[in-house]
Amino acid sequence: TKFADLNLVAPLMEAVAESGYVTPTPIQAQSIPHLLEGHDLLGLAQTGTGKTAAFVLPMLQRMMEHRKQAQPKSMRALILTPTRELAVQIADSIKTYGRHLPLRSTVIFGGVGQAPQVEKMRRGIDFVVATPGRLLDLMNQGHVTLTSVEFFVLDEADRMLDMGFIRDIRKITAVLPTRRQTLLFSATMPKDVAELANSLLTKPKRVEV
Ligand code: AMP
Repeated sequence: TKFADLNLVAPLMEAVAESGYVTPTPIQAQSIPHLLEGHDLLGLAQTGTGKTAAFVLPMLQRMMEHRKQAQPKSMRALILTPTRELAVQIADSIKTYGRHLPLRSTVIFGGVGQAPQVEKMRRGIDFVVATPGRLLDLMNQGHVTLTSVEFFVLDEADRMLDMGFIRDIRKITAVLPTRRQTLLFSATMPKDVAELANSLLTKPKRVEV
C-alpha cells in the first residue's frame, strides 16, 4: 500500500510528505480505510508502530468532511491517554498532521495549573488529548462538556487499566454521545481490556500488527 492509495485529502498528503513518510506502516495501511468509512476500530498495536498517524489522519479528514457551523466552540474529538508524556506526543502529532487544516487542538493533563487549559476550552477547540483525572476535574467544574464529541479514542487501554483508571474511564464514557466513532488501542488484550472494548465499540474492525 502507498499513501496515494489511502484516499487522503491534499492537505493531509502534504503534511505526510513534509514529515518524510514514504509508505504507510502496516497499522496505517490497515486502519485508515476502515476509519475513513466511519467504522469503530479495535487496534492491537504498540507505540512505535505509527499508530498515532493511523488514527489522527482519518479523524482530521472526517472532521473536515463534516464541518460544523452550528457549535463552533464545542469539542469534537476526545483522545484519552494514560500519561502526560503520551498526551503531549499525540497533541504534537495532531498539530503536525493537521498543520494545513483549520482545526484547533489542545492537551489537558494534571500536575500543572488548570487556568490555561480552561481558557483554551473556553475559546473553543476541536481536538482534546487528555489524561482522565484532570479531564474529570474540568468536567466536574463545568469547564468541559462532552455532548458534542463525535470521535473518541482510548489509547494504550491496557496501561490505563493497569494504572487504575477504569472508574475514571467509565465516568467519562458514560456522558459521551452514543452516536460516535470509537477507537480503542492496546498492546495486549487481557480480559478486562476485552470487556471494556466490548462495552465501548460497536461492530469494530479489528487490526493487529
Ligand atoms: P507512533 O507509533 O505513532 O508513536 O509512531 C512512531 C514513530 O514513527 C513516530 O516518530 C512517527 O513520526 C513515525 N512514523 C509514523 N508513520 C510513519 C510512516 N508512515 N513512515 C515513517 N515513519 C513514520
